[in-house]
Amino acid sequence: MYAEVQTVERLTPSMVRIVLHNGDLENFDASTATDSYINARFVPQGSPLVVPFEADDLEALDPEHRPRPRRFTVRRWDNERRELTIDFVAHGDAGYAGTWAQRATPGDRLQFSGPSGSYRPSNETDWHLLVGDESALPAIAASIESLSAGAIASVFVVVDGPEHELPLRSNAEVSVTWLHRNSSVAPETLLAEAVANAEFPAGTFDVFVHGEAGEVRAVRKHLLADRNVDAAAASISPYWRRTYTDEAWREVKRDWMSEQARDIAAA
Ligand SMILES: Cc1cc2nc3c(=O)[nH]c(=O)nc-3n(C[C@H](O)[C@H](O)[C@H](O)COP(=O)(O)OP(=O)(O)OC[C@H]3O[C@@H](n4cnc5c(N)ncnc54)[C@H](O)[C@@H]3O)c2cc1C
Repeated sequence: MYAEVQTVERLTPSMVRIVLHNGDLENFDASTATDSYINARFVPQGSPLVVPFEADDLEALDPEHRPRPRRFTVRRWDNERRELTIDFVAHGDAGYAGTWAQRATPGDRLQFSGPSGSYRPSNETDWHLLVGDESALPAIAASIESLSAGAIASVFVVVDGPEHELPLRSNAEVSVTWLHRNSSVAPETLLAEAVANAEFPAGTFDVFVHGEAGEVRAVRKHLLADRNVDAAAASISPYWRRTYTDEAWREVKRDWMSEQARDIAAA
């Protein structure tokens, strides 16, 4: 399916919000998951490919002209207006998706499949722990917006600096801790240390931890080793890996996940 850019808004120096409309959004089958995501296909600059395209159209293309798949969270779906909001991290001139978002203008088209997704704050726990970076902010924001008054959540988000923080809205009682990468602590340990030093609310909690692979891994290790979190019941996974393109990351991700699974045994 595909959709057209309706509006482009710079939310922070590192975040571009794009609202999509038209195209095939009439058939968009929204998910109830608050981390639901689309798998978008970014057409490289200079490619003759025109959106919407069919799988057959790709066969004749040089590899460098083929679309690059990238996953992006459904920040908001407006069912009545059939509008899909995606918040893209703008991370310089590298990458297909980030640069597409920074250059996007109304009428541009984006082809994608989905949505898929699996996390939604549990109704069974006393509170919710959500941890991540800019790339996980759309899912964290959607998750806490879904909470009712009386629910409790603790949120930890690492961004580059105060100007990269976003207002987070919720009817629940949410404590938000913003961390800034320009501190003296290595990014891999910044989030984990903040979570480790936090006094958790009483009772049972569910867990959502997503973002940069090294940062996620350090938080995961702490939660499993020191907070008795059950890995099988937690939503923890790396969205991207610093210095790796998505293609390069997907090539090594399986080995990374196997290594990560051994972290606790090795601790
Ligand atoms: C399920 C899922 C949901 C996601 N949802 C979102 C979302 O809603 N918004 C969002 O922005 N991202 C989201 N991501 C992450 C996004 O898919 C990756 O960051 C992707 O690599 C970006 O593609 P690109 O073409 O811009 O950069 P790539 O070509 O993949 O990478 C180019 C360079 O940029 C670096 N890079 C990639 N991402 C970032 C980043 N976030 N910050 C700094 N440097 C980066 C890479 O390490 C590499 O050095 C999600 C990922 C998954 C798996």
